[in-house]
Amino acid sequence: MSHGAEVVVDAVSKAFEDGRIRALERATLRLEPGEFVSLTGPSGSGKSTLLNLIGALDRPDDGSISIDGATLDRLDAAEYRAATVGFVFQFHNLIPTLTALENVQVPMLGRGLGRTAREERARSLLRDVGLVQRERSFPTTLSGGERQRVALARALANAPRLLLADEPTGSLDSETGAQMLRLIERLRREHGTTVLLVTNDEGVAATAGHTLRLLDGRVTPDGAPRSA
Ligand code: ADP
Ligand code: MG
Repeated sequence: MSHGAEVVVDAVSKAFEDGRIRALERATLRLEPGEFVSLTGPSGSGKSTLLNLIGALDRPDDGSISIDGATLDRLDAAEYRAATVGFVFQFHNLIPTLTALENVQVPMLGRGLGRTAREERARSLLRDVGLVQRERSFPTTLSGGERQRVALARALANAPRLLLADEPTGSLDSETGAQMLRLIERLRREHGTTVLLVTNDEGVAATAGHTLRLLDGRVTPDGAPRSA
C-alpha cells in the first residue's frame, strides 16, 4: 500500500501587492505518490510561494491544487496540514521558548498520543537527525544547521504523507546535508512519502527522482525552459 499523497497543481497563479508582483503564473505540476521531486529556480522565482500553496499556508488566486483527487479548498486546511503534510520552512520557524524536544512534539499535540509516547517519538526523531544529546537545548543555543535538523524532525512528527521542504540543507555543511537527505530518502522508501524539495544545490537535486525548475513563476522540466 502506498502511503504517499498524490499532488496535482493545475495552472496555479498567485500575485502579491495588488497584482504588481506575479509570483506564480499558471504553474502546473504533478507528484505521484512516493515520488521524490526537487524544485530549483533562481531566487524570487516563486518556489516558496508554491510550497506554501501546496501546504495550504496560503491560497492561490487562480487554478487549483488537489491532494489524492480532492481540491484543497474543500479540505479543512488545519486538519490537512496536521494530518498529511510535513513542512520544513526555509527559516526553520522553531518556537524560541520551547526546547528541541518540545518543538518536535508540537505537531503531535491534540492528535491522540499520550505525553510519554509523544516524548519518546520526539526523542527518536531527534536521534534520527543526530541531535538527541541536544533535546533540552533551546533554538537560540543551536547552530543554524542544528535548528534545521530539529525542524526536519518536527516535520516528520506525524509521519506525513507529503513532505514539503524549502531549502532544508541550505545552512548545512555537506556531510550534515547528506545525512538529512539520507533520512528523507529512507522515509520515502519505507513509508512511500511523497517529497517535494526546494534546493539550489545541484548535488542535492540529483538525489531526487527528477527535477523541476521554476522560472518566472512557471514550472518547466529541468534543463531548457519549455517554450510557451
Ligand atoms: P523563491 O522562494 O523562489 O525565492 P518566493 O516564492 O519567495 O521566491 O517569491 C516569489 C516572488 O513573490 C518574489 O518576488 C517575492 O518578493 C514575492 N513575494 C513572496 N511572498 C510575498 C509576500 N507575502 N508579499 C509580497 N511579495 C511576496
Ligand atoms: Mg524561497
